[in-house]
Amino acid sequence: MKTPSIWHKLLGLLPEGLQSEETLLLLSPSQHLPLLSHRRAQMLLTRVRLFAALFAVLTPLWIIVDMLTLPRELWQPLALLRLAATLAFYLLLKWRADDKQLTAAYQAIGWLFAIPTAFYIGSHWLLQHVQLAGLSAAIGAGYAFLPFVLLAGLAVFPLTVLESLLFSIPTLLGFALSNLLDLTLINWPSLSGELWLLSLLAGVASLAGASQLAFIIVLVRQAIRDPLTGVFSRRSGEEVLALLQANRSRQPLSLAFFDIDHFKAINDAHGHQAGDRVLRHFTDNLARQLRRSDVLVRWGGEEFLLLLPDTTLSQACQLIERLRRHGLGERPDGGALTASIGLAEWHSDNCQDWQQLVNLADLRMYRAKQTGRDQMICQDIAQV
Ligand code: GH3
Ligand code: MG
Ligand code: MG
Repeated sequence: MKTPSIWHKLLGLLPEGLQSEETLLLLSPSQHLPLLSHRRAQMLLTRVRLFAALFAVLTPLWIIVDMLTLPRELWQPLALLRLAATLAFYLLLKWRADDKQLTAAYQAIGWLFAIPTAFYIGSHWLLQHVQLAGLSAAIGAGYAFLPFVLLAGLAVFPLTVLESLLFSIPTLLGFALSNLLDLTLINWPSLSGELWLLSLLAGVASLAGASQLAFIIVLVRQAIRDPLTGVFSRRSGEEVLALLQANRSRQPLSLAFFDIDHFKAINDAHGHQAGDRVLRHFTDNLARQLRRSDVLVRWGGEEFLLLLPDTTLSQACQLIERLRRHGLGERPDGGALTASIGLAEWHSDNCQDWQQLVNLADLRMYRAKQTGRDQMICQDIAQV
């Protein structure tokens, strides 16, 4: 299925490099790879901090304008509200999440929207009971724009459509609720018009957010993939391993270290390009047989890591045996492509960090190489 080009051309919202299967990633975060989520979480947290800093300065500054234009019985309680909001923005700015995961980013955005929404409800309630005229009325009316500014601000965040809508609902409800507080004062046609406008704004902001996300998806893919094979590059493989280590659970994590046998001979006999084609076929062939959660990494020239989350050593052994039986690929002369493989598992091998896990699998691969190639080794000699 090709991404409809009309979508690209008319809206210009999506980058050229976005693949059709990636468009689904713009709707909900459920299928996002951990690396994408991690980078997006960092980006979201940085932006929340930027806005919290801006609001922490601008919110109290406006007290001066209120003081000069509004009656004392109004500007004083409004100033208290502003000081409370300023304190909340300051605390949000200072808040450092223990982890930089998406849940922390969600909490931060939630607070960034909750503080002005609460401020809006309070200010609306105060302003509702005072009759203003002239300049005071204009300044007072300015408060009514807050929900519009908030929802437009949503466009700054690279969120999926689902996330944007979920974040806009509390602001919309806050707006509706504060207007419904005193039923006698409601102007229904104007209220429904404003709600419609706010919903439109939320829709446009979520499209803008999804467009940003699309660019991030393409950039992250280009940054984390090895250009020849399309599998994870070594650097991003290390990042995935570090993430797996940080979120370490009781679940098993197996790692297979592949080193293709006599690969140099392919280059020597058939040229570098033939060697490249063999590498690409090798990874395409493996990738087709893996689960979504498995991660294939090009660790070096003809060396690959296969990370198998939630897979015990014996399950991983069976899986690799199946892959070997199926065939790892073909050499340009028609012979079977073989590899020496070392396998290790986090818990059963008592690994303290990911480097140890990789080293152990590397060591076993080396032994497989030394003792005849085209085989897999899962245990150290002493344990056999
Ligand atoms: P062994 O069975 O002992 O692993 O032998 P080998 O020939 O596979 O291993 P060796 O480490 O001697 O050679 C690896 C070769 O892989 C050397 C290098 O030129 C080649 N290589 C590394 N990266 C690439 C690449 O991107 N494309 C191609 N075509 N060859 C590459
Ligand atoms: Mg090698
Ligand atoms: Mg080799």
